[in-house]
Amino acid sequence: MANMVEEGIVAPTGLIAHGRGEAFDYLLGERTTDNGRRAEMVAVATLLNGNRPVISVNGNTAALCAKDVVELAEAVKARIEVNLFHRTEERVQRVCAFIEEAGAKEALGRNADALLPGISSDRARCTKEGIYSADVVLVPLEDGDRAEALVKFGKKVIAIDLNPLSRTAKAAHITIVNEVTRSLPAMTAMVPELRRNGDKRLALINAFDNQQNLHEAMEIMRANLSSMQS
Ligand code: ATP
Repeated sequence: MANMVEEGIVAPTGLIAHGRGEAFDYLLGERTTDNGRRAEMVAVATLLNGNRPVISVNGNTAALCAKDVVELAEAVKARIEVNLFHRTEERVQRVCAFIEEAGAKEALGRNADALLPGISSDRARCTKEGIYSADVVLVPLEDGDRAEALVKFGKKVIAIDLNPLSRTAKAAHITIVNEVTRSLPAMTAMVPELRRNGDKRLALINAFDNQQNLHEAMEIMRANLSSMQS
């Protein structure tokens, strides 16, 4: 990640966010829990049921797992759009090129021609053909303001966030409490079975309650902390 700062892919504050993630991953036990896996299945079902799914990529996600993003996007037929908290045209170009070097036909975001309502920063900038007109948006490692704005704008929001207490985790419709590099390949592997089985997709989606999901994730962390003490 430090090298990626030098490459201009990750913003310096991205390192702090990464450290926050690592701290929560310790509490989670640095593994995919059954809770995380269920949320991943619901997320894949939702992406497959979407008409215009988009995966929103920031610098940290690109640095950690550009190839995994590309593979999931291909599997669920989603567009990829780069959206940066610390946006400069040069950085957007750089991150888009990085994703394309990892195999994407096209990463949207260079020609941001629309604004997401409810955000005053540059993060509001998006593309009409991508996030602006998406129905489902997967936001790995998102900040709370934008996650809330996406929900208010009517998007079905799927977050990947190791911190079940974050505003993003609470605002999203589906929050995967897992590390992003464990999560994305596992999600891609789930696609063939779920693509074939529409009833299963619907059952997964209907049975899911994100509040309960976050409660379970916190319980797992609480239990891990207790067992570390004894
Ligand atoms: P919020 O604004 O949502 O309340 P925040 O201020 O922590 O939270 P950011 O720093 O923009 O927002 O979000 C980064 C989030 O991503 C953090 O919650 C962090 O725990 C999480 N995170 C960081 N690295 C990873 C990772 N590798 N996998 C999954 N989640 C991660």
